[in-house]
Amino acid sequence: MPIATYDQYCQMLDNAKKGKFAYPAINITSLETINGVMEGFAEAGCDGIIQVSSGGGQHATGSIKDMALGAKILAEAAHSLAARYPVAIALHTDHCHPKNLGPFMDPLIAESEKRVAAGQSPLFNSHMFDGSELDLEENIKVSKTYLQRLAKLNMLLEIETGVVGGEEDGHDTSGVSNEKLYTTPGDMVRAYEELNSIGRFMLAATFGNVHGVYKPGNVKLTPTILRDGQAAVIEKFKTGANPLDLVFHGGSGSTQAEIHETLDYGVIKMNVDTDTQYAFTRPIADHMFKNYDGVLKVDQEIGNKKAYDPRGYLKLAMAGIKARVIEACQDLRAVGTSILK
Ligand SMILES: [Zn+2]
Repeated sequence: MPIATYDQYCQMLDNAKKGKFAYPAINITSLETINGVMEGFAEAGCDGIIQVSSGGGQHATGSIKDMALGAKILAEAAHSLAARYPVAIALHTDHCHPKNLGPFMDPLIAESEKRVAAGQSPLFNSHMFDGSELDLEENIKVSKTYLQRLAKLNMLLEIETGVVGGEEDGHDTSGVSNEKLYTTPGDMVRAYEELNSIGRFMLAATFGNVHGVYKPGNVKLTPTILRDGQAAVIEKFKTGANPLDLVFHGGSGSTQAEIHETLDYGVIKMNVDTDTQYAFTRPIADHMFKNYDGVLKVDQEIGNKKAYDPRGYLKLAMAGIKARVIEACQDLRAVGTSILK
């Protein structure tokens, strides 16, 4: 079906919260990753979120290096392809740090404004502004400005408080002091207080999560921070259960018990990138090692066209990422939850 409408996206998120499951949000960078990920969602009977990072957008334009143009091209491809899959797909952009607002998020929002003014759907369903490197009040101030603009277009905003450790898309936070790696319930109350009346927003609250995969024992997750933040919002604003739409960043490498605990506390979206990157590359590595004398022209031989035609090994890569997406749907209890069934 076409990319999810605002109402469908909201219905997806509401269902997730009610049913204590979450949507995998998978980063895509190419037609192969878009197709592999959509196939995974379709086979799992699960709606899903696909997202483009600034680096992913840049990659898609080669040496032109225009992150907004690349994101637009990938989003347009996703619009066309989603129409052929039987589940609902929402389109999102990942982490936009303050320095990338100008080259990345602003032109993409302008594009959606143009489309909406012409009676079309916006290019994306939601964007993420990551102001976690700013102090909280400045972060909220900028977030407010963007949410005001997006709400008019029936789009959502995702924000981040606290800092997710590790390195992603060239953004390295390994030098950040430990206490900043944990959002406080007070931060979560402030975000709700300032943003909730403007439009729908999602909050990536950090609880010791890191981007990338770490060996077991190196990450101390404290998901109860999410529970305590929800409780603080309920107490102050007398809301129903789990008022915040929470996002789990740095989900790659987490145990199933850790993931399930966060679902109970209102996580409705979990970003998966590192694990799906590996799942895409693993079958290619296998192909190259097994067929080295076909993909290479060894000893004046001519190689094997069948082995080095990129379509052959990229098909294997698509199957790899597809399988990992299905696994993410299972981990997040999202299998068979499509709003279209
Ligand atoms: Zn993050």
